[in-house]
This record gives sequence, structure tokens and C-alpha cells, in this order.
Amino acid sequence: MAIASRVQKRVLASFAAAAAAKLPEAAVAAAGAEAVEEVASSVQVQGGQVLEFGDTERLFAGERSTSLVRTLAVLQALSVGPLVDVATAALRSPAVAGSAVGRAAARATAYQHFCAGETAEEAAAAVRRLWRGGMGGILDYGIEDAEDGPACDRNAAGFLAAIDVAAALPPGSASVCIKITALCPIALLEKASDLLRWEQKHPSMKLPWKAHGFPVLCDSSPLYLTAKEPAALTAEEERELEMAHGRLLAIGERCAEYDIPLLVDAEYATVQPAIDYFTFAGALAFNGGGRPIVHGTIQAYLRDARDRLEAMARAAHGERVCLALKLVRGAYLARETRLASSLGVPSPIHRSIQDTHDCYNGCAAFLLDRVRRGAAAVTLATHNVESGQLAAARALELGIGGGADRGLQFAQLMGMADGLSLGLRNAGFQVSKYLPYGPVEHIIPYLIRRAEENRGLLSSSSFDRQLLRKELVRRFKAAMLGRE
Ligand SMILES: Cc1cc2nc3c(=O)[nH]c(=O)nc-3n(C[C@H](O)[C@H](O)[C@H](O)COP(=O)(O)OP(=O)(O)OC[C@H]3O[C@@H](n4cnc5c(N)ncnc54)[C@H](O)[C@@H]3O)c2cc1C
Repeated sequence: MAIASRVQKRVLASFAAAAAAKLPEAAVAAAGAEAVEEVASSVQVQGGQVLEFGDTERLFAGERSTSLVRTLAVLQALSVGPLVDVATAALRSPAVAGSAVGRAAARATAYQHFCAGETAEEAAAAVRRLWRGGMGGILDYGIEDAEDGPACDRNAAGFLAAIDVAAALPPGSASVCIKITALCPIALLEKASDLLRWEQKHPSMKLPWKAHGFPVLCDSSPLYLTAKEPAALTAEEERELEMAHGRLLAIGERCAEYDIPLLVDAEYATVQPAIDYFTFAGALAFNGGGRPIVHGTIQAYLRDARDRLEAMARAAHGERVCLALKLVRGAYLARETRLASSLGVPSPIHRSIQDTHDCYNGCAAFLLDRVRRGAAAVTLATHNVESGQLAAARALELGIGGGADRGLQFAQLMGMADGLSLGLRNAGFQVSKYLPYGPVEHIIPYLIRRAEENRGLLSSSSFDRQLLRKELVRRFKAAMLGRE
């Protein structure tokens, strides 16, 4: 079918392009020969199948038909552009977040599909359901950016509660993710980021508050956001920074106590250097022993992503700590592009989406090689089927990735790319779903991002809709006509 052949062709193009992956020629030939009849692709590596999407009965085994119908209905609705326009306008309206009826409507629709509940306990129940189905969960407590110290303290308490909930779940089933913008006031993160960029431009400059860590910027990092020398931090700001550091250490310690991985999200350029600075300080504190605790995030859509990744790997090697990273493409494309264009400078994002894909796949191959050597732990966070295929094939080639191998996991957001998650799980990989939870009014910006990501007939959900339709038709025929 059309989608199958498109997917398969793109997989093959990626295979050809990703020299880093060095897949056997036979694999490419085998995958190319018999692509088109299947609804979706499978890739052959050394005679074995890596990800199999054609057999939807096996793919969705254990998933209830009602849940498949609901998922298809939501994804189908989100593919209708005008409907998404109306829905996102409604979600943006204060009248919706502010009224009980508006919140109830959001809860019954997009929220139910993309979120795990209002409380950590509801999210824990979702982890248990996933775990019974052979996957894990990443608890994502949905909160707003913090403006001041008291908000940061409240957020830190929420993260600690999430860790306690995760600790009571089956071992290995749950991780927790946090946002540094919830633990340190935004204005301070912006100022610290400015100073880190200025230090990169003027290496002789000394920042009195700066603790030892990995390099956060490199020679190819764009520094245009800091055109002139920023003012030094005041004594009060240094104290606030110290308090934010203390919050992160308290969270890291609680995770270390229970052996719960802590994933730190990457955000946007104005604050990212300070986010990385905090994250690396956490990595140095908690990743020196057996299993790493603090995982940073690399955004492959940034043009300096590969150079920074290599600099981090060298630093981690020098410090004898495990390089623990989540690899994503990046979610702030519009914001970064808008900011760069308002300043009249080139965007920090790769010029073409293909460059982003190549960067993602190249960084994944680089990290998998280090996972094999026991020097890294990686979460490949993506809904992109080609990237999943490539990484799965490479991992098997390297002999890593079996369920018990905790150096590699794949991750997708709840309600997104379920076909890919199930395909990876069926191939024996560890897979987790990101589970945002919290009061509806706090999650609305997240719901708007998901709605926009899924809009359009050719959005990333089209592959999933295709798989769901095939499986529902198969089940309907099996039930009504008694045939497969
Ligand atoms: C588990 C998980 C955790 C995540 N954590 C983070 C996080 O911490 N920080 C963060 O920023 N994001 C995070 N994301 C979101 C992620 O960055 C992506 O926005 C999202 O997953 C889509 O990318 P994809 O890899 O799934 O690929 P695809 O489904 O192929 O999506 C590709 C997307 O890349 C974008 N894009 C990138 N570069 C270009 C370019 N040069 N030109 C045009 N379009 C481009 C497009 O918008 C396109 O929609 C996370 C995602 C997951 C699944």
C-alpha cells in the first residue's frame, strides 16, 4: 500500500545515508526486495526481522478493541485541520481553563488520550497497566515554569512525590522526568545562560558561582543571544542559584536511594545552557557508581548537537562517569526560528528536516556504540519509524537492547506512536511511554502541542491510523464472518 511503500522507501534512504550505522548490505537488499505488499515495513538484519508492523494481530495483541477504536477516533479527529483549529482556540481560551464545563470537556477528549490522570497515583496505575503489557512508564508531572522561589519549592515537592510513587511500583517499571524551568526561576536561568555564553566567547572570564561540570557549549554553538557582556549575578541571585542546585540534589538523592532514573528535559535556547549546567552537575554527583541516575537531553534539531554530544562524551570519559542521555529531535522549532529571525541571525536549527533526521540517526549510532562499551545509557525518544528501525537494527547488530539491558530504552509519548512502541516491545526492546499527569488546566499547553503535532492527514500519526484501521477491520471480519 501507498503508506507502506513510502515508509519503506524512506527507511531504505536512511539506511543508505546513515553510513555510521554500517548495516550489512544483505539487510538493505532484503528490505528493498519485498516492501510494497505489506501495510508497514519490517527490516531484515542478518536474516532476522527487527521491527514487524505487518502482522497487526500480533502487534496489537492484548489491546482491547474499544481502546483501539477510541485511539483511532482521536487521531482521526486531530488529522482534520479545521477541527484542530477550533479545538486549540478553545483550549487557549481562558474561558475553557477557567470553567468547570470547559475543563470537563478537555478531560473527556484530548486529555484522556494524551495524559495519565490528575494525580501521581492515577499515573502509577497507568504504569502498572503498561508494565503488565511489557512496557514501562516515565512519570511526567505537568507544571508551569516557575517565576519565584516558593513556586520552585512547590514544584520540587511535586517531583519528590512522583519519585516516592515510582519507588512503590515494580522495580524497573518507572522513571521520573523533570524540567529545570520548574526548579529555578526563569529570569535566573536566562541570566546564568547569558553568562555561560559570554564565558564561551571569553574563556578567560571566571564565573565565581560555577561548579565543575561538563562543557555546556562548544565552538560551533551559536552565541548571538548574548551580544554584550551581561551583568554578574548579584549575591542574592547566587544564593537563589544555590537553592535551585539544592532542589536538584535533593531530587537526585531521592532517585539514587530508590534506583529510579531521572530524565531532565531539554527546553529552549534562552535557558538551555543553564539547564545543561545543572544537569551535568547532577550527572557528576550521581552517575559515578553502577547505574546512572541523572539523564540529560540532546536535541538533534540543533546544528551544534553532534559537536556538543562528542564534547560531553569526552568529558564523561575523563570524569569516569556514565554518559546518560535522552535523544530527541526537539520540540521548540517555531520558537527558536522566530527568535533567530527577530534578531536577524540564522536559525540554530538544521536547514532541512533531512539534516535533522541525519543528525538524530548519527547521534543515535554514536550513543549506541558507547552503550555497547558500557560507557553510556541512552533513551531514544522518538515517534519516527525510520529512526526506530535504524536504531533497533544497529542495537541488535551491536548485541545490545534485550529487555534486561538497561543501557538502552526507547520512549514515546502517551497516545502517540503506539504502533512503534509495540513493534519495539515485540522485538525485545525496553520501551517506556512518557506519562504527563496533573490538573487539566496545567496540562493545556501540552495538549495544544500534541494537537498541533498530529494535525494534517500526513502528520506523524498517519502511520498509526493505518495500522489501527487494518487491525480493526481484521477484528471486525474475524468476529462477523469468522475469518481472518
Ligand atoms: C519520550 C519523549 C521525550 C521528549 N522530550 C523532549 C525534551 O526533553 N525536549 C524537547 O525539546 N523535545 C522533547 N520531545 C519531543 C521531540 O523533541 C519531538 O518534538 C517529537 O518527538 C517529534 O520528533 P520525532 O523524533 O518523534 O520525529 P518525527 O515524528 O519525524 O518529527 C519530526 C519533527 O521534527 C521537526 N523538525 C526538526 N527539525 C526540522 C527542520 N530542520 N525542518 C523542519 N522540521 C523540523 C518537525 O516539526 C517535525 O514534526 C520528546 C519526545 C518524546 C517522544
